[in-house]
Amino acid sequence: MARILITSALPYINGIKHLGNLIGSQLPADLYARYNRGRGNEVMFLCATDEHGTPAELAAAKANQPVADYCADMQKVQTDIANRFGLSFDHFGRSSSPQNHTLTQHFASKLADAGLITEVADRQVYSNADGRFLPDRYVEGTCPNCGYDGARGDQCEECTKQLDPTDLINPRSTISGSTDLEVRETKHLFLRQSAMRDQLDQWIDSKSDWPILTTSIAKKWLHDGDGLQDRGITRDLDWGVPVKKGDADWPGMEGKVFYVWFDAPIEYIACASEWAEANGKSDADWERWWRTDKGADDVKYVQFMGKDNVPFHTLSFPATILGSGEPWKLVDHLKSFNYLNYDGGQFSTSKGRGVFMDQALEILPADYWRWWLLSHAPESSDSEFTWENFQQSVNKDLADVLGNFVSRITKFCRSKFGEAVPEGGEYGEQEQALIAELTTRIRAYEGHMEAMEIRKSAQELRAIWVAGNEYLQSAAPWSTFKSDPEKAATQVRMGLNLIRLYAVLSAPFIPTATASMLSAMNTLDTSWPDDVTEALNALPVGHEFSVPEVLFAKITDDQREQWQQRFSGIRD
Ligand SMILES: [Zn+2]
Repeated sequence: MARILITSALPYINGIKHLGNLIGSQLPADLYARYNRGRGNEVMFLCATDEHGTPAELAAAKANQPVADYCADMQKVQTDIANRFGLSFDHFGRSSSPQNHTLTQHFASKLADAGLITEVADRQVYSNADGRFLPDRYVEGTCPNCGYDGARGDQCEECTKQLDPTDLINPRSTISGSTDLEVRETKHLFLRQSAMRDQLDQWIDSKSDWPILTTSIAKKWLHDGDGLQDRGITRDLDWGVPVKKGDADWPGMEGKVFYVWFDAPIEYIACASEWAEANGKSDADWERWWRTDKGADDVKYVQFMGKDNVPFHTLSFPATILGSGEPWKLVDHLKSFNYLNYDGGQFSTSKGRGVFMDQALEILPADYWRWWLLSHAPESSDSEFTWENFQQSVNKDLADVLGNFVSRITKFCRSKFGEAVPEGGEYGEQEQALIAELTTRIRAYEGHMEAMEIRKSAQELRAIWVAGNEYLQSAAPWSTFKSDPEKAATQVRMGLNLIRLYAVLSAPFIPTATASMLSAMNTLDTSWPDDVTEALNALPVGHEFSVPEVLFAKITDDQREQWQQRFSGIRD
């Protein structure tokens, strides 16, 4: 039994995610977790909300809530939607947890001890009225380039010019509107990533099985221009992990917090500690996943993320771990994704464009979305959601191929033999040929799943469903029954056993429908088909079952047009 640690990139707290975010990390991570559990491996699947930073503060202000309350509420909303999408996290934590505070301060202390943190003097806008330094986005004013009077301190949204807050004409605080601002000297901590370049370079070189896309992104950041740059790891915000050296104060850093990119990945580790606390486990129980000196040396650690997150996961977070000098688990494999586009454009959270997770579940059950998203995962290039393609894929793959198979065989059995696996006959040549084909295909499916080739896995699974349909079509028990009822009984027995087999194989993709299939087949046997012959004899003669409700309803043209219309504009 292998031990697999899986993390999905952390969804940011400021709102409900769209389907492009979902397929970019959480959903494929869930597929992989469910598959490994199905194979009998020990899995720890972790994810959390990423809660710190300016956007969280701004979203809370917009919602008229204290930021801590806003994050607590939004975390509940995201947890609920994740559950309804069937995301099977062992724990869905929070980067604002006490565990992450402690661990982030711990890492900073270790890095400082190793000489990898420096203090850098900076000049920054200070608001006398607000009594605080203002981060870039908290200063607004007139753009020196185009004259737009609502330009933000980091960028003018009108002409897109990148700005520094001190560039703005007539600057004001977005908190109070005060214009009583001045530029003051302040200090920030920087992580000396440049000092770790060779160590990171060697570590990347040791990853010969990583995709070129991943290593080339890391190499570019390591070597392009002046090479890997030091990064600021502190900010002047209220909401975040206070800057401390372990549990000791950090002189000169009072009132500052760690910058979100520093504490967010540390939450991958802290989340395991949250899991232990939530489940009455000990520190040893979570450390065996994360500390190579405490049992994690046989763990395979896989991370799932969008391509924009690759530099953080190949360089910044490893710099934190390697720099600490402590035996924490480093990532073994990264699975990164391109972007999913929406109906001729892009999904956009800020513009509210596309289908968001809560809206998706208002119109159809999670499995419909899971199947489409996973079978069209943006792996080698960007992919696009269109309503036509979605309708076609759901109607063909789920309703016609899988759903129809289940309905046909169970209804036929009920009408001719009753609701129990019928007696009579032995598997003959046709059944042996099917078993041989399924054996080949199931081994290929396993190979694709283990390689995290998601589209190929979906294609193979569909081919496995099709093989059963073709068998049923050619065996035609409804004809056989007239001349040779015993042979028809054998064929039906095969068909009913195929339903159980399909449920086991398909559970990582469509967990709700497959649970219905198993429940209709009246079985708790979810053992993996290492031996396909054995698997197709699992439901014995006389085993009772029931005819399930329709598994997948077809999407009508009217529905498709209505939804296309509904989601063509922007979200309220
Ligand atoms: Zn401008």
